Amino acid sequence: MSVRELSKGPHVQIDEAAIWQTLKLHSSRDASRVREVLAKASAARGLDPEDVATLATVSDPELIQELFHTAKIVKEGIYGRRLVLFAPLYVSNLCQNECLYCAFRASNKELVRRSLTQEEIAREVRIMIDQGHKRILLVAGEAYPKEGFQYVLDCLDTIYKTTHNAGEVRRANVNVAPLTVEEFKLLKAAKIGTYQIFQETYHHETYQKVHLGGKKRNYEYRIDAMDRAMEAGIDDVGVGILFGLADWRFEILALMQHIRHLEQKFGVGPHTISVPRLEPAHGSDMASHPPRPVSDVDFRKIVAILRLAVPYTGIIMSTRETAEIRRETFALGVSQISAGSRTNPAGYSDEAFDASQFSLGDHRTLDEVIRDVTQLGYIPSFCTACYRLGRTGADFMDLAKPGDIKDHCDPNAISTFTEFLLDYASPETKEVGERAIRTFLDNMGPAQRQRAETMMEKVRQGKRDVYC
Ligand code: SAM
Ligand code: SF4
Repeated sequence: MSVRELSKGPHVQIDEAAIWQTLKLHSSRDASRVREVLAKASAARGLDPEDVATLATVSDPELIQELFHTAKIVKEGIYGRRLVLFAPLYVSNLCQNECLYCAFRASNKELVRRSLTQEEIAREVRIMIDQGHKRILLVAGEAYPKEGFQYVLDCLDTIYKTTHNAGEVRRANVNVAPLTVEEFKLLKAAKIGTYQIFQETYHHETYQKVHLGGKKRNYEYRIDAMDRAMEAGIDDVGVGILFGLADWRFEILALMQHIRHLEQKFGVGPHTISVPRLEPAHGSDMASHPPRPVSDVDFRKIVAILRLAVPYTGIIMSTRETAEIRRETFALGVSQISAGSRTNPAGYSDEAFDASQFSLGDHRTLDEVIRDVTQLGYIPSFCTACYRLGRTGADFMDLAKPGDIKDHCDPNAISTFTEFLLDYASPETKEVGERAIRTFLDNMGPAQRQRAETMMEKVRQGKRDVYC
């Protein structure tokens, strides 16, 4: 059977010629055309590929500022001042693939290999819970210990079963190598939140150049992963691009094709888009010298354009970026961030074991990140309500598009942030956080404020996991 037959057609086709043609025809130095696209984008109904091409080629500093300004307004209109927080949990660095940019690749003999036992995973989870995390992203290389794929299911079981000091993980998202439909069904039964996988690059030739061996070498098997996941009933899938491998303008137009394919076939696009940039990785020359580096200003353009192109899709920014870049980029469209992350197995419990996947740009603790984003005017959220109330996939988008979801998200953010402040925050963060909540409440409409205050009061009285 060919890999394409593993999922029901039609399959994703990235039409490279069409992308180059669109970029050629619609790159524009004409300010009035750019402003026309920005006016269309302000309606928060998304953009066509031609519009994306126009914005991707903007280089005039004044127009770039207008692009950022439009993205800020759209972001604020949909997501308000909320920022959702999570952290990755690396369970294993075993890998059979040869991704030239990654420290985990099979030929990196200097890396000490380790897959955590269930006991070690529980220890990691307890530490993450004690920091205040409620949302965890399980990450692994593409090779499992002797249990095979069952290992991932066992890890999920451990994550959900582990509790500590009255805290627990409420949502486990997963970033592991593409699976078959049958395996995806098992993942769904294990109650995962979002299944994430990044295509890394949509550019076929580059893909072959940077993935030299192992299963991941098969472009089609990877790009069809979201189809198989959705066929298996996983409503929320997360896509991503590893920026720095190929021309970013090409990549975002290819991503638009992938998204359109999912929308046409399943009635809903991805739940999230991740925007990692290549970071130095042990033993990888390519990671330190990206073939197509993305500058800081282009990185911000990418986030702003994606926010306008697919306004209701979450955008995730990780701790690969420095605190400074993160501060500058939140406002442009990011809705979820990781914080206090470690990218090596046992990274939270075993400081001496250093075998990370790549270097981090932001080394601050969760408490420090929370204090900083709160001081910047954001409300950190650990909300997991939608997934637990079945508001996923198309149902989530139906609620999100008219803006109704905000009525839930804002009170849920306040309730989960209050939990964090009471249970985990340092005295400084608590002070900053309580002040921020008061301001946030003052800016709410009366009905929403009433709901948020009622929920907050329940949390103050000792109830936990209060959501609507
Ligand atoms: N092994 C699976 C895979 O490759 O799909 C799943 C997890 S992999 C550990 C997570 C992601 O890390 C990859 O998809 C890739 O985008 C990213 N990554 C790998 N090397 C990186 C580097 N040097 N800098 C930034 N991100 C990197
Ligand atoms: Fe393995 Fe994933 Fe790293 Fe590639 S990116 S070497 S598949 S862990």
